[in-house]
Amino acid sequence: MLLGDPASPEVTRRSVDEGIGKATIAAKVRNALSFYRPLDSIPGIEIRCHGTTLYNSIYRFDAEVRSTEPHPCHRHSVHPMTPATTEDPTTLRHILARTTALLLDFDGPICSVFAGLAAHTVVTQLCLVLADGGHGDPPIEIEKSDDPFEVLAYAAGLGDDEARYVNAAFTAHEVEAIATAEPTPGGHDLIRAWSATGRPLVIVSNNSTIAIHAYLDLHDLRTHVTRVSARTSPDPALLKPHPHLLTTALTALNIAPAAATFVGDSVTDIQAARAAGTMSIGYADKPRKRTELITAGADTVISTPTILTEQIT
Ligand SMILES: [Mg+2]
Repeated sequence: MLLGDPASPEVTRRSVDEGIGKATIAAKVRNALSFYRPLDSIPGIEIRCHGTTLYNSIYRFDAEVRSTEPHPCHRHSVHPMTPATTEDPTTLRHILARTTALLLDFDGPICSVFAGLAAHTVVTQLCLVLADGGHGDPPIEIEKSDDPFEVLAYAAGLGDDEARYVNAAFTAHEVEAIATAEPTPGGHDLIRAWSATGRPLVIVSNNSTIAIHAYLDLHDLRTHVTRVSARTSPDPALLKPHPHLLTTALTALNIAPAAATFVGDSVTDIQAARAAGTMSIGYADKPRKRTELITAGADTVISTPTILTEQIT
């Protein structure tokens, strides 16, 4: 048995390439070695380590040799440990066959909202709003955050008024960001392809409803979207991972959760889907996200919306 040497630079580099921290794969190897150790004393069995960067695995069972798919040796190569269900057309077709309503997250599968207006700039602006309201010294992790939703959650902890004025300012910045939001390759095509089937399409997002409508108008997509179920209230407790935005949309459309599929790029999207009882597809544009979304319980994971569009019939 041949395993990567957990102390070798190759194993460390592979772990870094996967975006899971430099010690993770070495730890997995040590774990496997401890399981195999009792076999070491059996005649004919040897357990050895190597320091080569391997991108496929070869198994021999008696006279039969099996190999995993070879993987290209570049940074974003697909990991051999990726579950077999990811990007599998049969799995996607099976999910879509049971899907009446397609629910799409906004920031991620459709566009990158803060592509042109840095999210950290918005965080700084929202902290200024808090300072104007007499809360001039938020915790350092809030001030340094790249996530405006963290400021909203912090404001909500201070009080209803604080949540309301931070939400109002955040909404204004989101609308401003829409002009420079970058469409996700294949995202608009997915919307149009699903819409062409005549089945409902709902955008479910923690971003503000008004900003999403602005985006749909800017890109001439409004007629393809049945409903927008997004942030209208300053209360962050109603946002994903809470299922509220999914369940209100499905109730309004009179569609059972089991007949809906939610496509999202965050762990909180998958958590919301599971809490609401819908099927879920993770959209992962990075290998690290793929592992996170699978671990969160996504039914499958895609690396581009196009993979899903291709399976719509
Ligand atoms: Mg998202």
